[in-house]
Amino acid sequence: MWNDPIGEVPPGFSCQRCGNCCRGPGDVVLFDGEIEALAALLGLDVPRFTEDYTRLATDRRALSLAEQPDGACVFLLPDNTCRIQDAKPRQCRAFPYLWRSARLANMCRGWKNAESRTSPLVTPS
Ligand code: SF4
Ligand code: SF4
Repeated sequence: MWNDPIGEVPPGFSCQRCGNCCRGPGDVVLFDGEIEALAALLGLDVPRFTEDYTRLATDRRALSLAEQPDGACVFLLPDNTCRIQDAKPRQCRAFPYLWRSARLANMCRGWKNAESRTSPLVTPS
């Protein structure tokens, strides 16, 4: 799905662990084998995991991780860490290197920091 990188992240990009990419709108689509891996990580069988932690993706062609009532990913912890870090989905691992939306990039503190360091200085005339 992400064989064609869409361009470089800003030089010096470093994740600030703000968790904003886990709070943005949209699906966290689960690909082949990911549901089984996540169910195993949590010690659940696949039907139980699917029932408790997934929903139908927006295009109705796959399953997505579900959300908490405030819209954050169901696995985002209060300290902005990921409860399923050891098996987190490919979509999560690929952001923002292999995919990103303008909206999510705009919410990303690491992206904004890197951009601000590389923006040309405005000198007074
Ligand atoms: S699975 Fe983890 S990394 Fe992916 S959106 Fe949820 S909390 Fe964030
Ligand atoms: S939004 Fe950007 S800086 Fe924040 S956790 Fe996600 S990748 Fe890291």
